[in-house]
Amino acid sequence: MKTIQAYRYALDLTPTQERAALAHAGAARVAHNWALARVRAVMCQRAAERTYGIPDNQLTPALSWSLPGLRKEWNAAKRQVAPWWTECSKEAFNTGLDALARALRNWTRSRSGHRAGRPAGFPRFKSRRRTAPSVRFTTGTIRVELDRKHIVLPRLGRLKLHESARKLARRIDSGTARIMSATVRRDGGRWHVAFTCEVERTDRRPTQPLSVVGVDLGIKHLAVLSTGEKAPNPQHLIGAQARLRRFSRALARKAGPDRCASRHPSGRWERASARLSRAHARVRNLRRDGLHKLTTRLAREHGTIVLEDLNVAGMLRNRRLARHIADAGFAELRRQLAYKAEWYGGQMILADRWYPSSKTCSGCGTAKAKLALAERIYICTKCGLVLDRDLNAARNLAALVASHTTGSGPVAGRGADRKTQHAGLAAVKRQPGAASAGQTGTVPPQGRTTDRELTRAGDG
Ligand SMILES: [Zn+2]
Repeated sequence: MKTIQAYRYALDLTPTQERAALAHAGAARVAHNWALARVRAVMCQRAAERTYGIPDNQLTPALSWSLPGLRKEWNAAKRQVAPWWTECSKEAFNTGLDALARALRNWTRSRSGHRAGRPAGFPRFKSRRRTAPSVRFTTGTIRVELDRKHIVLPRLGRLKLHESARKLARRIDSGTARIMSATVRRDGGRWHVAFTCEVERTDRRPTQPLSVVGVDLGIKHLAVLSTGEKAPNPQHLIGAQARLRRFSRALARKAGPDRCASRHPSGRWERASARLSRAHARVRNLRRDGLHKLTTRLAREHGTIVLEDLNVAGMLRNRRLARHIADAGFAELRRQLAYKAEWYGGQMILADRWYPSSKTCSGCGTAKAKLALAERIYICTKCGLVLDRDLNAARNLAALVASHTTGSGPVAGRGADRKTQHAGLAAVKRQPGAASAGQTGTVPPQGRTTDRELTRAGDG
């Protein structure tokens, strides 16, 4: 199976190398901001000319917003705009122009309704302080050295890795990976390099290919599996909150940069700011590590993983929940499960967003009309089942697929590709004998979620 995969390593840069990396990132920003200013100036000029009643064919010619177009503009102007342009790799300017071309495309597509998700705004200028310095190399010498502790990048030269790159090096040696690009980026005070690679992965099977596991995501436990296993929610952000508060208060007391007064930040402010961003980076790293371990284990073991299609973006709008949801990383967990299930030869299935997994009894299939969030134990009035609320939900999710599979043969398709799932299925599968009161879920709430629902024609 051919996939695009990233290998990310921490770098140990010397002060000279760090300056060079920062210079390249700065060059990317300069090119981005210059091109954005040009785009805006031409847009405003054309708009103004239109108000004078100048016919369209006599307006100032529009700029091309594509990467080659922007690059052409930049190359014509770089001698004036950036007389130092020879000091940086051309890839640095390309990084900035590429970011702008993408941002402009996202904006146009979003405006014309061709882009899903939240509306994308018009690109904004990059600031030296707020943007993480980053530069991407797509051409030239990009390689891992034989000792696997060093890499070579264009212009930046030979850089020391903080850890061994043997996993990637082995793949390159055996011909199963090809480096497509390398991005050098500073993240929470530390430099990283991320190689985007085309990787040929061997086809694998999960250790239990027939196993179906339902996963109920929550805040008390990050994930409750239908097997009865509970993955704790480590709440890294909540744990670090006291430290973060202290650091950001200390930062607020120091003299930061002020553009109006053209004041440079004090040395103490710089140090306090670095301390705060390191603390945030640590939370991120801990969270990422935990999620990767959990999702890899699930994807390696189980043939089918059933998740609820949670409306994470919607939940993040709830001010009381947002911090906890974001800290748990539901969206990231789902994203990782989707691609890892495919890597390990299993599949991830999203249950319909409106499927009442918590309200349904996993024993007899009766659905309750109401279930308060505070009720941690599910008690069925019909069959007398008493079960942990989250476990009950996880079992319902698993049963959703189990009954589906026995009803109409094995679920076709592998992987989490939404398009390959459940072709020709139309109505939401419920527990056999479930009360059909309030047939929520038969009609997809939004047009585009149609094909990702666990659905089937003709309930039975
Ligand atoms: Zn029951």
